Amino acid sequence: MNQQRHDSGTGPPLASDPLVRRARAEAELYARGETSTEPPSLEEAQALVHELRVHQIELEHQNEALRQSQIELEESRARYFELYDLAPVGYLTLSPPDLIEEANRAAEALLGMARANLIKRPLSQFIDSRDRALYQRAIQAPLAHHFPQRGEFRLQGSRKPPGWILLQAAPGALHPAQPNRRHVALIDISARKHNEQALLDSQARLRLATEVAGLSFWEWDWQEDRLYPPPAGFSATRTDGETSAEPRLSDWAAALHEEDRDRALAAIRAFAAHPDGPRELQYRATPDGVRERWFLSRLESLRDGAGQPRRLLLVQQDITHRKQAEDEALYLAQHDPLTGLASRALLDQLATHMLASARRANEQLAVLFFDLDRFKVINDTHGHGAGDRVLQGIARRLRACFRAEDLIARMGGDEFVVVARIHDADEAARTARKAIAILEPPHAINGLSLRCLPSIGISLFPRDGETLDALLQRADIAMYQAKRISPGHYQFVTESLNRKVEAATSLEQRLREALAHGEFSLAYQPMLDIASGQVNAVEALLRWPQPEGEPIPPGTIIPLAESLHLIHEIGHWVFGECCRQLHAWRQAQLPPLGIAINISTRQFYHPRFIADLTATLRDTHTDPRCFSLQISEATLLESLDSAKLILAELRALGARLVMDDFGLGCSSLCELEGLALDGLAIDRALIQRLGLTASMPAIVNLIIHLSHALHLEVTAVGIESESDLAFVREQHCDRAQGHYIGMPLSGAEFIAWHRQQTRCAAGP
Ligand code: C2E
Ligand code: MG
Repeated sequence: MNQQRHDSGTGPPLASDPLVRRARAEAELYARGETSTEPPSLEEAQALVHELRVHQIELEHQNEALRQSQIELEESRARYFELYDLAPVGYLTLSPPDLIEEANRAAEALLGMARANLIKRPLSQFIDSRDRALYQRAIQAPLAHHFPQRGEFRLQGSRKPPGWILLQAAPGALHPAQPNRRHVALIDISARKHNEQALLDSQARLRLATEVAGLSFWEWDWQEDRLYPPPAGFSATRTDGETSAEPRLSDWAAALHEEDRDRALAAIRAFAAHPDGPRELQYRATPDGVRERWFLSRLESLRDGAGQPRRLLLVQQDITHRKQAEDEALYLAQHDPLTGLASRALLDQLATHMLASARRANEQLAVLFFDLDRFKVINDTHGHGAGDRVLQGIARRLRACFRAEDLIARMGGDEFVVVARIHDADEAARTARKAIAILEPPHAINGLSLRCLPSIGISLFPRDGETLDALLQRADIAMYQAKRISPGHYQFVTESLNRKVEAATSLEQRLREALAHGEFSLAYQPMLDIASGQVNAVEALLRWPQPEGEPIPPGTIIPLAESLHLIHEIGHWVFGECCRQLHAWRQAQLPPLGIAINISTRQFYHPRFIADLTATLRDTHTDPRCFSLQISEATLLESLDSAKLILAELRALGARLVMDDFGLGCSSLCELEGLALDGLAIDRALIQRLGLTASMPAIVNLIIHLSHALHLEVTAVGIESESDLAFVREQHCDRAQGHYIGMPLSGAEFIAWHRQQTRCAAGP
């Protein structure tokens, strides 16, 4: 609207000058012909003047009132324009079809164009093309329906994101000159629209996140017992089978596992009453009525406008996969993955229960500790695959042997434990015998026949201990004793055994320290070449000197080192020391000497045996032909096939190979030939009996002759007298070794001894 409009009315405009107004009035008076020619009398003139005066005053009053109302009108018009122009809402007046005729400042700002430029432009030009059709419908509607039409539209322009307006159109006041005008209000709703969009976005994100995380939620109005919204995934089926439009808490709980239902409901109700209580719960449910799933829920208290707790929010997450993974992890932690038997952890758990119930019922339990003989050799020789299959076979046989209620566990490696209810020690012994019989037959694996006899130690509850640890420890000790007697035996816990094992335990600790601190030494026993009468070789013998008292003999060290798996390290040290000694003797001008080294069973079958030996020879620049390796018959027969392979490699290296302790076991001479050895050493037990039994000379004679027939060089060990030496010389034995020839000596002592011998042989 513009302020230059004129007042409405039909007469000439009102003059502001009174003289002009008087002249106009007189002129009009004459024009109307109302002037008289007769002059009025004095009274009439006075009365007329009075009337005119009164009338004049009336007119002045009227004028004043008119002037006042004009001022008020001007003021109100100015206020109106101010309100119109400065209103925060954009106002437009449109002429058909939608041309802008008037615009206030807010409209100017919203449409982003100066008012002068807006005039005569169509409003549609400012509406985003995406919303234009909608706008056209809205803008047409007011004319047709005569009531305001609304619409929300995006504005065309460079604003990012685009501005939004709420447009409200109404027909203009009827005006004869402009009958089709419309008044339009534009309200900037950009902020609301952006907030709405942000809300929609965050709802979409929340929906996605809840989907991905397997979340769902509902609110429970605990005063009215209503759930909002109905729990997703949970069929709103009531406990009575009816479908509920307004589900209650009990309807949701109907899908819960019956073992979890009451607990979950109690927890939810308790939280509603005390929102600072526990807020997490887990339960199983079958929301789709088909598959049972695990849920983890978190509870939150929601307050109303007055800050009073009103609703309870439950957010639940499907944790079925996690539960399954936990169950699997638990199963794996509790079971040996290879055999499926109970693990040490599960043994602890279940045996503790068995002990408690045996204690209550006054019953006895037996703890059987199994160790497999030669299992490590199988592992080392035939590989871990074969070893694993043997262990699986053992587990199968143990399951078949024991009752379902007995507890069978694998402790790791080749050790198994069974905890069984028994009536007395006899029953425990019968059970152990049965287990040995079942485990005895060989396992057929990869075409091999692998035998693994068990040694069993048995402790009894309550006699030998109150706790599982005590019973296990004692059964373990008894098992070692059984193993020492011979594999395939069982042994009960005894007091003397406990004492012995305590001593062995302290020895074990000392042995480890001795190896770490280099406390071992070697003694060298001369070996006589009978034909030449020369000592041209020695046997290296392990010694463990003690600060007080006699050195600990190898007969004690070697079995202990074997059982502790330290023998490879000790053997490795022996080799290095022998190489060093050979060089020292050469430097001392001794003639070239051969050196015999004893190899124990685990050392022989150790996977790094040959590699480490080769490395030592290379590093010390020692000729392998100086060495003859003494391997006992028992070692070779432990795993004949593997032994042959190892011997072949050693021979390829250049070392001589000798079977030690010959005559102690039931030697198979046929096998001897197949092993392609260089020699054998007759055990000193046989030589020492030469003068004691009538048949022994014949036996020794036979051994020497048979050995020669097999092209083996024979050494007689334990020559203690001249007659012993004379006998073996007569039998054409090749070498002799014994106290009569020379005691075991240190490296330095041997130099002096050898020089002495050479001087004696040379004579005075
Ligand atoms: P072995 O290989 O049969 O060694 C001969 C044993 O007989 C040695 O006992 C030696 O001192 C003893 N001996 C030799 N001549 C006589 C004699 O005339 N009279 C008597 N009474 N004894 C005699 P030692 O040193 O106690 O060794 C015992 C066994 O320990 C050895 O028997 C050998 O099998 C083993 N051994 C010794 N040193 C080592 C070693 O470094 N490594 C391995 N693996 N075993 C070793
Ligand atoms: Mg020997």
